[in-house]
Amino acid sequence: MPYKIQIDRTLCMGDGICTAIAPNTFELNSEGKSTVKNPTGDSDEKILEAVKACPVKAMLLKDENDKQVYP
Ligand code: SF4
Repeated sequence: MPYKIQIDRTLCMGDGICTAIAPNTFELNSEGKSTVKNPTGDSDEKILEAVKACPVKAMLLKDENDKQVYP
């Protein structure tokens, strides 16, 4: 099930935790902020783990029916 991933880049501090956990889904852009490069790049479990690991809670996950999964 593909997640819809929203990243609040004003909160992201570019520590690269999400990109380390789910490197096929997230990457840091030229400004050092996380971006989604492929929303299905890693397993749902890995993506959820990466989103939960964000220390500033910059990411929000919804399922394909727009139901909020996290936070
Ligand atoms: S874990 Fe959060 S703060 Fe760190 S790079 Fe990813 S979105 Fe940014």
